[in-house]
This record gives sequence, C-alpha cells and structure tokens, in this order.
Amino acid sequence: MHVACVHCGAVNRLPADRLADDPVCGRCSQALLSGEPVELTDANFEAVTSKTDLPVVVDFWAPWCGPCRMMAPAFSQAAAQLKGRALLVKVNSDDNPRTAGRFGIRSIPTLVKLEHGREAARQSGAIAAGQIVSFASA
Ligand SMILES: [Zn+2]
Repeated sequence: MHVACVHCGAVNRLPADRLADDPVCGRCSQALLSGEPVELTDANFEAVTSKTDLPVVVDFWAPWCGPCRMMAPAFSQAAAQLKGRALLVKVNSDDNPRTAGRFGIRSIPTLVKLEHGREAARQSGAIAAGQIVSFASA
C-alpha cells in the first residue's frame, strides 16, 4: 500500500497488515495514519489524495458554518474508528477555493469519498459518526 505523508508529501510503501500499527513517515518521521483528521490545502491536496491507496474521506467545511462545527467531533470520532482503514481529511473551502471548485462544492458540510484520487461517493449535510464510518466503508 502507498500512503502519502500529509506533512511532507513523501510517498511511503507499507504492508497492508501494518496500517493500524501507527506507521511513521520514512522522510519526516511524523505519523502517517494518526487516527485524527488532518487539514489539507490547495497546495498538497492533489499530491496526498492521488498517492494514497486507502480511501480518503474529505470534509469540506468553513469556520462560519454551524453544522460543520457541529459535525467536527463526529468526524474526529469516525477518524479514530477508521484508523488504518481510511484517511479522513478536512479542507477549509474558503481558504482552498481551487480544491472546493474542482469538486463543485456548493453547500457545506459536504463529504466526498475518494478512491485513488477519484470521487467515489458524496454526502451533503452533517451526519453522525456511525454514518461517516459507513460512508467511508461502503
Ligand atoms: Zn513525511
């Protein structure tokens, strides 16, 4: 399995059965799959999502969006439950218009599931942690 480091962009090769064992990046030694949501930006979104073999769930959000803030704890819970099975990332749609534009994000929160960088599913509106896990695992 390939997992791109969200911190430095290095693409790491990992055995599939080691993904839950807190792997660290071979270049920068930071956690690759910490079980916590990570923030991506226009600068690194494409590199990370296209070079990661795990499903990636993107939460498009913004600080002024009440439902987004309400869903944030559920998204963190889902990230912990999906540790080693999926990468959960957040994109601030105000600060990262290129990525939000590429996906045609019109309302937030919107979750987009990517498989090898390509959209596989989409869900608009805030949902509970269990529903996020189901969305990521479907
Ligand atoms: Zn790294």
